[in-house]
Amino acid sequence: MKAGRKPLAKHRRIVIKIGSALLVDRATGLKSRWLEAMCDDIAELRAGGTEVLVVSSGAIALGRSVLKLPSGTLKLEESQAAAAVGQIALARAWSESLSRHEIVAGQILLTLGDTEERRRYLNARETLNQLLKMGSVPIINENDTVATTEIRYGDNDRLAARVATMAGADLLVLLSDIDGLYTAPPHLDPNAAFLESIPAITPEIEAMAGGAASELSRGGMRTKIDAGKIATSAGCAMIIASGKPDHPVKAIENGARSSWFAPSGTPVTARKTWIAGQLVPAGKLHVDAGAEQALKGGKSLLPAGIREVSGEFSRGDTVAVIGTDGREIARGLAGYDADEARVIAGRKTAEIEALLGYVGRAAMIHRDDLVMTGAHTAKVRGSTEEAYSA
Ligand code: GLU
Repeated sequence: MKAGRKPLAKHRRIVIKIGSALLVDRATGLKSRWLEAMCDDIAELRAGGTEVLVVSSGAIALGRSVLKLPSGTLKLEESQAAAAVGQIALARAWSESLSRHEIVAGQILLTLGDTEERRRYLNARETLNQLLKMGSVPIINENDTVATTEIRYGDNDRLAARVATMAGADLLVLLSDIDGLYTAPPHLDPNAAFLESIPAITPEIEAMAGGAASELSRGGMRTKIDAGKIATSAGCAMIIASGKPDHPVKAIENGARSSWFAPSGTPVTARKTWIAGQLVPAGKLHVDAGAEQALKGGKSLLPAGIREVSGEFSRGDTVAVIGTDGREIARGLAGYDADEARVIAGRKTAEIEALLGYVGRAAMIHRDDLVMTGAHTAKVRGSTEEAYSA
């Protein structure tokens, strides 16, 4: 086993994300043999006591193939229709292949709102847990038939990371046609070096992501790194590996090339995990150096340290906190609506009553509602300085 990693089978709960190109061939449709080999691997993990959740792409690609749609970009309504046809075939294929191992599959189709709205998130989490308790393997995809362009994940990398944090998984495996992270896109740069172990997702790592994407899948390296941020900051390790060989999970165990992203060493509460993983913060609070220091020291964000407020948000919405260098450093639940935040930005807490006409909260974001997101910059796991100050 490679440094820092533990064998897949030693994990408690694994989310495996499978890219469209692995499951669907443009000319011949579903790759049944590959799927069966994949299900052998899943059955083996489960026999060893590891729970498995699958985030399976391929609905749109499979629907295209079943409907014999010509190649080229689909309009939204066409891809929604393709997904409707493809998803039913995909679910059936998973269900049949897993049943060869006497494993029952359960289908969950999620929309962005199911993971971004706290109440719906808790509801979906409950269903996932219940399925696992019943010994079933959840097969998850985005509900592409109803997701519109504005309100959708669009890629299953980030969806899988969200599912991993939702399910409290300790490992997320992203299987696609890319075998891992390189210092530059390998097809463009002959000097690109492969990275086997990524202790922390630093701005340098983010810069390496480039835009690699294959024809069938929406997710390139960018969305994989975003997925890594969501997963690792919730204490979940992530592996990017090629799913091309039959038995891709076994191949990783046997030492196939893959990139491993270390989980952040500091556990945060489930609620903070949810806050940190929000995909689209409703607004931004730009803070000064003093506030940045205070946040890193575990303090709440006071209005005095806010230089600028952007976006429209209501109290309770998730907002991003932007540091002096323009990078996101934290996320939290806003204590005030955007309009009020603009009025009290840069002012002392004691002035709030006079400014707003009522005694408000002392903090713009209370420390209990705040999670540091950009702080695991260049920090190696196990260092004394923790990634989270909260
Ligand atoms: N949800 C899409 C599908 O099943 C795939 C998205 C992706 O490729 O990441 O077709």
